[in-house]
Amino acid sequence: MFIPISQPSITQKEIDYVTDAVTSTWISSLGKYIDRFEAEFADFCQSRYAICVSNGTVAIQLALAAYDIGKGDEVIMPNLSFVATANATLHSGAKPVFADVDPVNLCIDPTKIEHLITPNTKAIMPVHLYGHPAQMEAILEVAGKHNLLVIEDAAEAHGATVNGRPVGSLGNCATFSFYGNKNITTGEGGMITTNDEDFYNKCKYLRDHAMSKEKRYWHTAPGFNFRMTNIQAAIGCAQLERVGDFMAKRQLIFSWYKKHLGEINKVSLNKTNDWATNAYWLICLEHKDWTATDRDQFMTDLKKHGVDSRPYFYPMSQMPYINEKVDTPVSDMVSQRGINLPTFFDLEESQVKFICDVLKQLFNA
Ligand SMILES: *Cc1c(COP(=O)(O)O)cnc(C)c1O
Repeated sequence: MFIPISQPSITQKEIDYVTDAVTSTWISSLGKYIDRFEAEFADFCQSRYAICVSNGTVAIQLALAAYDIGKGDEVIMPNLSFVATANATLHSGAKPVFADVDPVNLCIDPTKIEHLITPNTKAIMPVHLYGHPAQMEAILEVAGKHNLLVIEDAAEAHGATVNGRPVGSLGNCATFSFYGNKNITTGEGGMITTNDEDFYNKCKYLRDHAMSKEKRYWHTAPGFNFRMTNIQAAIGCAQLERVGDFMAKRQLIFSWYKKHLGEINKVSLNKTNDWATNAYWLICLEHKDWTATDRDQFMTDLKKHGVDSRPYFYPMSQMPYINEKVDTPVSDMVSQRGINLPTFFDLEESQVKFICDVLKQLFNA
């Protein structure tokens, strides 16, 4: 038996919608599933508009381009995130500026933002890491005070809420990913949500080669092809119909881990602030005393028992092409002492119990 960290849930509904899309011949980036997926995803986020794109990385790049953020500009983001947050910013020409994270929710610490603001700062990009939403109220307050945009990187947190309001509706815009291991998948895919009509139109225009609305094949900027296909959107529509089940199952999986792991000295699972609903993209396990070496050995041992895991993200400032000295002690420390454990819709309680038995055995060894 080998339990993977993640696997998509594909049912007859996804197959039916994809078959319909393919047999209709609308297999490129126009079609009814595109329109439906955008409309329904906007509703899901309680957001006025949604624009689907090829993946979650270009969703960030498109949002930055639509705000004219580029060369000479700075974007403040947490140092602990999947590297796409920084890479999309680098590709836009802007400079990622790394802030430290909160040790409880692992998202950007709102009190560690203000001292990084310069005259070049244009936006704050909080990341809702591993399914936990960032502390948006405090972040929006800092942004408001300094007239900065807030772009939520919500790639890992479909359905998470802050004081009952869903991510994707909290900043000036938000970006999502539908990669195969995310809470909702379209294989590859992404989305931008916003309430701003001008920004929405700018995104749509730049997504499709920046073609003039009045004059076909007349292009008024160097645009992109960041479109999603109708086939991917068909999968997305099916997944969105099931999203209530997806979210409930992830809560249940977390409760199973909690129950079967019990209390182990110095070991903790995901922590959730009382103002948040956690979308539990991935189960997080931390050991207070782990160094990176201990952690890597533990993952090797887990694999020997047939359990997949992955390390927390490395601080993005440490990537060799960035290699920047920054003062983010919490990101540096937390990064070393955490792993993610199997979290996916079809996971069963007996498997979680098995995983927890292996964990207990390894911790007691
Ligand atoms: C997955 C992810 C992305 C990128 O999404 P892709 O669809 O893989 O391009 C961006 N940011 C974060 C935080 C992610 O986890």
